[in-house]
Amino acid sequence: MKDRPKRLNRPWQIDYNILSEDRIRFPLVAVVEKTPNNGNIKDDHFIVVKYKRKKYWVLFKCPCGCGHVISLSLQKHHRPCWSLKVKHGRPSLTPSIWQISGCKSHFFITNGVVQWCGRDSFIIE
Ligand SMILES: [Zn+2]
Repeated sequence: MKDRPKRLNRPWQIDYNILSEDRIRFPLVAVVEKTPNNGNIKDDHFIVVKYKRKKYWVLFKCPCGCGHVISLSLQKHHRPCWSLKVKHGRPSLTPSIWQISGCKSHFFITNGVVQWCGRDSFIIE
């Protein structure tokens, strides 16, 4: 008998273990001590800049394909700042990421998967 997807307590939750690999945009987190050049960041890179055990920044390319490198602060005394969790090597960021200029993308990153925010509802890609 095949493994059945795990039953979830809440129907709107997604069991990320059963998502196919191609839906995972950021399969792993790279921790570096020096901020890399934007040109060295590939589409599936998710880079955390850490120095002396402190996480400072997270860098990744905008998942819409516009090529813009997004850098977000993980430092609590910065506003805005984001919280990063890593599970099975895959990143989750809260709150959502909203590009107020350029492509205006608005999305969540949850377990390496990009969840786009529509105008009125969530669209899970
Ligand atoms: Zn974009």
